[in-house]
Amino acid sequence: MECLFCQIANREKSSDVVWEDDEFFSFKDINPKSRIHVLVIPKRHIDSVSHMDGEDVPLIGNLFLAIQQIARNLGIQGSGYRLEINVGRGGGQIIDHLHVHLLAD
Ligand code: 5GP
Ligand code: ZN
Repeated sequence: MECLFCQIANREKSSDVVWEDDEFFSFKDINPKSRIHVLVIPKRHIDSVSHMDGEDVPLIGNLFLAIQQIARNLGIQGSGYRLEINVGRGGGQIIDHLHVHLLAD
């Protein structure tokens, strides 16, 4: 079965889109744990932080710049926010497509 977050990034499955560029896709979490709870994912499938390698170094930098831009668009750059990355089942990762939770109260 195809990965849920790949389907969301391809717009095969609907989501509340927050932001998109060539490399990343951001959408509202379906079960928000804060006033603002969005997910930021690379469009290219990577299972988790544990599955990244040297080729992904540019992607990691660009990911943080994308998060910075999304926070600016959401108006929380000044007030602040939290980032969470769950890795593996023991780390609370349910969806095996790398994603960053961006949360703000
Ligand atoms: P994880 O526990 O893997 O770090 O987080 C997965 C997140 O994906 C959860 O917060 C969950 O609410 C969210 N999620 C799961 N399925 C969907 C979905 O179909 N659409 C959206 N927008 N979020 C989802
Ligand atoms: Zn995927």
